[in-house]
Amino acid sequence: MKTTYGICTRKKRFASRAAAEAVAERADVPLRAYKCELCHQYHLTGRTKGMKLPAFEVDRRRALKARRRSRTAP
Ligand SMILES: [Zn+2]
Repeated sequence: MKTTYGICTRKKRFASRAAAEAVAERADVPLRAYKCELCHQYHLTGRTKGMKLPAFEVDRRRALKARRRSRTAP
């Protein structure tokens, strides 16, 4: 992903992908960690459309769907 300088300086930085994804996992919105070409650290982006979802996000969506189904079941 191409990162502009403005985005890099405004965004929170993470030293590792694991650190960024740990934060993404706790967030209320789907976030994705990516490596920045400018600072060589990691940022989070909310633009997950068309991207491969991280495993925890796939699990979360599956759990949400299962919960919805059990609520409507008798
Ligand atoms: Zn950066």
